[in-house]
Amino acid sequence: MTAIADSIAGGEIGGRLWFYANYHCNLRCAYCLTESAPQVNRRELGREQIVERAREGKELGFTSLGVTGGEPFVLDYMPELIATLGSELPTLVLSNGTVFNDRRLGEMEPLAELPVKVQISLDRPDPDANDEMRGPENFRKVVEAVPRLVERGIGVRIATTLEDPEADPHGMERLCELHRAMGVPDQDHVVRPIVNRGRAATNDMGVLAGLEQLEPELTLTADGAFYSPFGPTVRGGELDTDMLVSRTTSPVREPAKMLARIAGNRPAGNDASIGIR
Ligand code: SF4
Repeated sequence: MTAIADSIAGGEIGGRLWFYANYHCNLRCAYCLTESAPQVNRRELGREQIVERAREGKELGFTSLGVTGGEPFVLDYMPELIATLGSELPTLVLSNGTVFNDRRLGEMEPLAELPVKVQISLDRPDPDANDEMRGPENFRKVVEAVPRLVERGIGVRIATTLEDPEADPHGMERLCELHRAMGVPDQDHVVRPIVNRGRAATNDMGVLAGLEQLEPELTLTADGAFYSPFGPTVRGGELDTDMLVSRTTSPVREPAKMLARIAGNRPAGNDASIGIR
């Protein structure tokens, strides 16, 4: 067993190894942590690098993988990459759910045979309220895409991000009825608050999240390794580096060791309750 596997087994660091595939996106959500939009710098990590580092991570003892962005599925190679990752370890890929045309859905069919889940954002049970934060037609596209993934046997989770997840229990119940009707069970519905970083900070939204509130989960990007998938955020076009663990991401063992050291030095009693899971 490696020292990293020990840290994961002991709960000092999370078992999921995250990748920021890219920073560009077809949407421009009001609370986006990475200020993603169609024209931003892509800052792609790269297909080969992701596969290499995922395999290294598996050898070190990481137990699952996560892919986020930006919108990962604006990259043509994403379905094939997720299939490769899913054949190594259980893989979660985050998506806005708006780029799944017939061709892309066909390319994704092999994911049904693998321990892969596609986590799609849906915040509200009504189009107007949902689209206020995420842009026109978002609701319609998501409620079309989710059943089409489910009917192909592809694992889907729904992620709901709200300013105050407790504020509207009736709306939440209606949203739960909707995801159940689309074939997504309760255990695959995750709810989290907006985090006050990136565009959310500019728009004065969300809860503050520092090292104390976040689970240490090694997150690799084109710009280096970070403490959490909430770390490599962008504000005013500049990458936030307050959660940068190391500028190098290879070999993965090095940033993983640094993350374990940082996590080990955290004061006791941290509330690591905000996670992308
Ligand atoms: S929150 Fe997600 S879907 Fe919205 S702009 Fe950012 S990366 Fe794109």
